Order: sequence, then C-alpha cells, then structure tokens
Amino acid sequence: MALVFCRSCGREIDESAVTCPHCGAAQALVFQINPDAIPEGVRGWSWGAFLLTWIWAIGNSTWIGLLALFPPLWFIMAIILGIKGREWAWKNARWDSLEHFNRVQRLWSIWGLVLVLGFILFMILVVVVVPATLFWHWMPQMHSPDGVTV
Ligand SMILES: [Zn+2]
Repeated sequence: MALVFCRSCGREIDESAVTCPHCGAAQALVFQINPDAIPEGVRGWSWGAFLLTWIWAIGNSTWIGLLALFPPLWFIMAIILGIKGREWAWKNARWDSLEHFNRVQRLWSIWGLVLVLGFILFMILVVVVVPATLFWHWMPQMHSPDGVTV
C-alpha cells in the first residue's frame, strides 16, 4: 500500500480510496507522496514558533530550535522557525490529524502573542508607570524646604 494523506484531515489512507475512511472527504484530487511529503495546509508562517522559539521547539520535538537559546542565533532562528517551524513540527511530533496539528499550533500562536504582549505591557509598566509614580511621589518632598513630607 502506497502512502497518501487525506487532503481534508491529513491522515494516512489507502491510495485507492475514493473517500477518506476517517472524515469522508472525497479524494478525487489526492496526490501520491513520499513519507517526507507535507500535506496541504501544514506550511505557513508560525507565530508560535517565531515568538516562543526554543520553548515551542521543545513542545514540538523540533530540537534544531534549541539553537535559539544562543543569543547571537536567536533572531535568525526565530525567523527560520517562523518560516519552517510548522513543517518541522509536522514531521517531528506525533499528530492525530491535520486538524489536530492546526489546533495545537493555533494554541502555540495564541500563547506566543499573549506572552509577548504581556512582556511589552510589563516593560511599559517598568519603564513608564513606575518611574512616573515615584517621581510624583517624591517631587513634593524634594521641593519642601524643611524636608517635611507633604
Ligand atoms: Zn480525511
């Protein structure tokens, strides 16, 4: 039996199947592929891999992503992971179906965005809000001639 993947759910099916036994999708346009081939819908930009780099790499058994731990390589790896990450994750980790793969990758992207936005908000807090608060707290004291707290 030659390996083909359902165009709809991405699971392996017999190449002669007219419809997918898993999801029922018609396979008229099914294409024969070798085991390394990537089903349609896997490729694409991965925000999860781009933003979380090595954390994403561990979660997706894509060990090359650990290169992002080295500061000089981090940004280059982030871009490479953004471009190639989904393909690598598809090959390296176990997935029930293309739908499962996309659901998990979407979660990674959401968490990546949440963490990055959280970090940006935290930095705004540290750089802007905290100094401003301290400034307005200590200003009156500094201008009080006898040092009495206002
Ligand atoms: Zn299917």
